[in-house]
Amino acid sequence: MELNEALALIRRVPDFPEPGVMFQDITPVLGDPAAFRTVIDAMAETLDGADVIVAIDARGFFFGAAVAYSLGLGVVPVRKVGKLPVVDGKASYSLEYGTAELEIPAGVIQPGQRVAVIDDVLATGGTAAAACELVELAKGEVAGITVLLEIGALGGRSRLVGRKLHTLLTV
Ligand code: 5GP
Repeated sequence: MELNEALALIRRVPDFPEPGVMFQDITPVLGDPAAFRTVIDAMAETLDGADVIVAIDARGFFFGAAVAYSLGLGVVPVRKVGKLPVVDGKASYSLEYGTAELEIPAGVIQPGQRVAVIDDVLATGGTAAAACELVELAKGEVAGITVLLEIGALGGRSRLVGRKLHTLLTV
């Protein structure tokens, strides 16, 4: 399947999770075997010499784990606070109302490893920026960030200045 055909399966859902938000639903891409393989292969191609993958809670897990498997790499979850038993630290990021925190498991990334950060969607960029902070807290080096979809109007790219950002699609 062509990449643009696979990406065309992403559907826009108005007023989710709250009124006024246009949610980009990637689940049809996950559910279609040809589309899933196509986007995983395309994401994997953006990784240039990474040693390990960090996948962001929760939809990033699907993409990060599959890319890691296809490249023969390991995958490390960055999770919402309270889910991991031993952590190297937390990073806060802003939500529309208030803040939230992400954590990285302790001692799983080796110091100096080149880390590719993977998620499904880049919106305001707070989540990806926090994940990068955590990689650095764990003494890894952020090799790049790869997402399926960037919502350009939300300006997430500006939170990742100086980092390599790869997106399969920008809307
Ligand atoms: P940000 O921190 O960039 O504002 O939000 C990105 C995070 O929220 C990602 O982990 C992503 O899974 C989730 N997210 C925000 N907006 C959307 C959306 O429209 N669709 C999907 N699938 N995830 C979203």
